[in-house]
Amino acid sequence: MLKAVCDAITHDDNASKMIDDMMFEMLKRKGIGIAAPQIGLMKRIVIADFHDITYVMINPLIVRQSEEKTEMEEGCLSLPGVFVNTIRHDEIDVSFCDHTLVEQHITLNGIHARIIQHEVDHLNGVTLLDRMGKLGRSNAIKNIHRLRKGFNK
Ligand SMILES: [Zn+2]
Repeated sequence: MLKAVCDAITHDDNASKMIDDMMFEMLKRKGIGIAAPQIGLMKRIVIADFHDITYVMINPLIVRQSEEKTEMEEGCLSLPGVFVNTIRHDEIDVSFCDHTLVEQHITLNGIHARIIQHEVDHLNGVTLLDRMGKLGRSNAIKNIHRLRKGFNK
């Protein structure tokens, strides 16, 4: 599921129901961001909780990204216990439709830009595991298997 490219939202989709379900899951798992494929919906919606403001982004598109990049450790709701040093652009411009289907265009930087780049990656079937080198990936997969075994006991 997390490897597939998601479809754009159209007027035929019940976007508000999807947004409700995503919001519920994000809050339940105490996440700061979630993408639709993380709850099995192969659609282009992301939600990001920036404390003072929560963005619902339908069909988000990163239309500009800064040359400047920063490497920082990142986690993911779908990969519990896995943290990966990931290089992200410091600043991005994003176009999207909000939950009322009004088109928005915003500039984000720092951690906010990082979260959106992470979530938009999910819409394109890209996870943290694709963002790290070979050695890091095999270690992370070992960790995931170990965690899964722990859960099943
Ligand atoms: Zn994630």
